[in-house]
Formats: sequence, structure tokens, C-alpha cells
Amino acid sequence: MNPDLIVVGSGFFGLTVAERVANELGLKVLVLERRSHLGGNAYSEREPETGIEVHRYGAHLFHTSNQRVWEYVNRFTTFTPYVHRVYSNVGGEVFPLPINLGTVNQFFRAAHTPDEARALVAEQAAEITASPENLEEKGISLIGRPLYEAFIKGYTAKQWQTDPRELPASIISRLPVRYNYDNRYFNDDFEGLPTDGYTAWLERMADHPNIEIRLDTDFFDPEQPFNKDAVVGRIPVVYTGPVDRYFDYEHGRLSWRTLDFEQEVVEVGDFQGTSVMNYGDEEVPFTRILEFRHFHPERDYPSDRTVIVREFSRFAEADDEPYYPVNTPDDRERLKKYRDDMESQPQVIFGGRLGTYQYLDMHMAIGSALSAFDNKVAPLLKS
Ligand code: FAD
Ligand code: UDP
Repeated sequence: MNPDLIVVGSGFFGLTVAERVANELGLKVLVLERRSHLGGNAYSEREPETGIEVHRYGAHLFHTSNQRVWEYVNRFTTFTPYVHRVYSNVGGEVFPLPINLGTVNQFFRAAHTPDEARALVAEQAAEITASPENLEEKGISLIGRPLYEAFIKGYTAKQWQTDPRELPASIISRLPVRYNYDNRYFNDDFEGLPTDGYTAWLERMADHPNIEIRLDTDFFDPEQPFNKDAVVGRIPVVYTGPVDRYFDYEHGRLSWRTLDFEQEVVEVGDFQGTSVMNYGDEEVPFTRILEFRHFHPERDYPSDRTVIVREFSRFAEADDEPYYPVNTPDDRERLKKYRDDMESQPQVIFGGRLGTYQYLDMHMAIGSALSAFDNKVAPLLKS
């Protein structure tokens, strides 16, 4: 192949760009993927014993309010009517999340109206008077100390292994608090799971004669012909791998959290009655248990076996999969330097979660890839 563009990484960002370039511009794209499968972290596969679809890199729920992204993704897949709901096991009792009137009333063994619950939480949150500067202050200001300590403190400590007073408040801005009994996890206009699974969706995006995907191929491997040294400056590149790796870690490594997954086939038809059960207590070593059959109640799965995955969180070492940017002040300093370095690479467009060191939901990765295509990739390829 004589490619017009090299895309490094076959996650949603890379595949969206590749699809647009092939279909809109009619140009040839070579996608290099280090792993032995396409799709990045959204990849899923059937557990062989049960046939139950498992998301290999953690539970992935699609949701968006972005009309353009919704129309775009519907070209490749339909979506089931799945609505995500999460529960939390705290002190041996199960509560609904996000924290809502049901959670508050169960926790305080009360029957408060919305206004009464608001007044109670406001009273408990009153200890925070200034604008919240970190996750703990933000949490207390939103829900008061008793609820914060039950539902947020232990879970966050397990997930981040960092004092919540040193974490940015923005992390829990993702968690709404509601003064009604609505326990839908997401507020978005559109939500669902891809009917035939994530991998079928990702494969359809890549299904074009102008797109070639080379698996087990690392951009930095000097043995493969389209490696960094051979390509940069000669063929335009969209790079979605880790930004610090691209620059040989010259300003130091950016820190990430990784997850360990313990998967098990259990000989019961239904293990926990729902897809995601969080564990709020710090003494329980895992953060949550996923039970994948519940993502697709419409499928004909076995009734005597189920697949569960316990999820553990820790800091990523050099060889671990990077999942969530930690984003300490040091990280932000380093990132600024890497951003300056990017300016010196006009033929390389950095994108996606790893390439920009940003937590991006799937709809955000796809939305930013559509914008990058319009504003950067297409102009570069047409010049
Ligand atoms: P990735 O999917 O990470 O793809 C990058 C690809 O680049 C990888 O395949 C990697 O192997 C490849 N690569 C890296 N370096 C090289 C190299 N040197 N050479 C060749 N290839 C390379 N989003 C949601 O919307 N809903 C969710 O519920 C949700 N849950 C999540 C749960 C977890 C545990 C995690 C970690 C993420 C979750 N996300 C979720 C986010 C979602 O995974 C991302 O939005 C999406 O993966 C971003 O796509 P990407 O293309 O930017 O990156
Ligand atoms: N969180 C919490 N308790 C929970 C769920 C979430 O304290 O039961 C906090 C925690 O700090 C977490 C953040 O809210 O990092 C975001 O939660 P989300 O479920 O969005 O995390 P993700 O699925 O992205 O790991």
C-alpha cells in the first residue's frame, strides 16, 4: 500500500479519522495498531464458555447529547434501548446511584420530600463556605459529609489511591445529585449499547477498500516499514498513542491509573441482578463488580452461568495499560511542554485519549475526531 495518511491506533479516534478520509476524500489510509485486535479500549469479545459479550478493557456505555455524533455513529450500528443504572454496596446494604432522593431516604431511614432533602443536605454541606478547591470539598458541598463519607470517600480512595483533598473537584462533577427518584446514570439525550456489540461496530467503521489495518504493529518498531523515523515528514500522521512516548519521555512520564480485571464464570443464572455494583467501603479491595449479561437482556444467553468481572484500580507502571490520566500539577506542567513540542510537528496530528492526555468518553473521542478531520486532517491532505 502507498498510503496518503498513517493513523497510529485503531480506537474510536483513529477509526473515525480513517473512515472520514477514506469515504470523504477517497484517499488511502494505513492504520497501525500495536495490539492484536482493532478498536482500542472499546473492544469487546464473547467469553468462549458462555457466549456473553465482555468488554475487555472495562464496561463501556455509549451515551451522548451531541446530535452530529449520534447521527454519525448510527451509520455503523443500531443501539439497544439499554438504560444504565448503577447501585452501590455500602456497609452491606445496597443503595441506588447517582445519589438521589431514594439514596438519601434509605440512608437516613426517612421519607423526605425533595425540599426537605435539599434542606437537610444544605445544612450538612454548610461547613464548606468557600468555592470548593478539591474533590473532598466539592463532594461535601454537594451532598454533605455523611453521604460523602459513605458513598464517595472510600470508593474514591480505592480508585485513585490519592487523598481526595489532592484530587481535582472536576472528577466528581461527572456524578450528578438528584432530588427525585430518577436513578438513570446518564443525563444525555441518547443512550444505548451497540446491538451487535462494540467490535462489530468498530469493524464496520474500518470496512473500506481504502483502509488497511496492520495489527501487532508498533509505530516505534524500527523493523516495520512505516515506523516513526521512516514516516514523519514524508506522510501525514494522525497519532493516538501516548504523547510522552512520542517524544521519548523527554520531559518525564505522564502518570496514569490502570485497572486489573478478574474475570470469572459463575455457575448461577444471575449473580447480582444488575450490570454494575459499586463497592463503597474502603475495606473491600475491588471498586466494582460488572456482570455482563445484564447489558444485553434481549440476547439469548445461558440461564445457568454468568460472567462477572471484579475491577481493581492502581497506579500504572511503565508496562501497564494507561486508563485514566491522574493529572497532578506535575503532569500538567509536563503536558504543557509536550504541547509545545507538538507545534514542531506540523505533519503530525495528535488526538484521542492518549495523544492529548485527557479522559474522553467515546462520544467525545468521536466528536473530537470529526472536528480534527474537518479542521486539520482534510486541510493538511488537500494542501
Ligand atoms: P484508545 O481506544 O485507547 O485507542 C488508542 C489505540 O492506540 C489503542 O488501540 C492502542 O493499542 C494504540 N496504540 C498506542 N500506541 C501505539 C503505537 N505505538 N503503535 C500502534 N498503536 C498504538 N467511554 C464511554 O463513552 N462510556 C464508558 O462507559 C466508558 N467506559 C470506560 C471504562 C474504562 C475502564 C476506560 C479506560 C475507558 C472508558 N471509556 C468510556 C472511554 C473510552 O474507552 C474512550 O473514549 C475511547 O477508548 C477513546 O478512543 P481513543 O481512540 O482515543 O483511544
Ligand atoms: N465515585 C464515587 N463513588 C461511586 C462512584 C463514583 O465516589 O460509587 C466518584 C469517584 O471519585 C470516581 C468519580 O466519581 O472516580 C467518577 O465516577 P464514574 O462512575 O464516572 O467513574 P468511571 O466509571 O469513569 O471510573
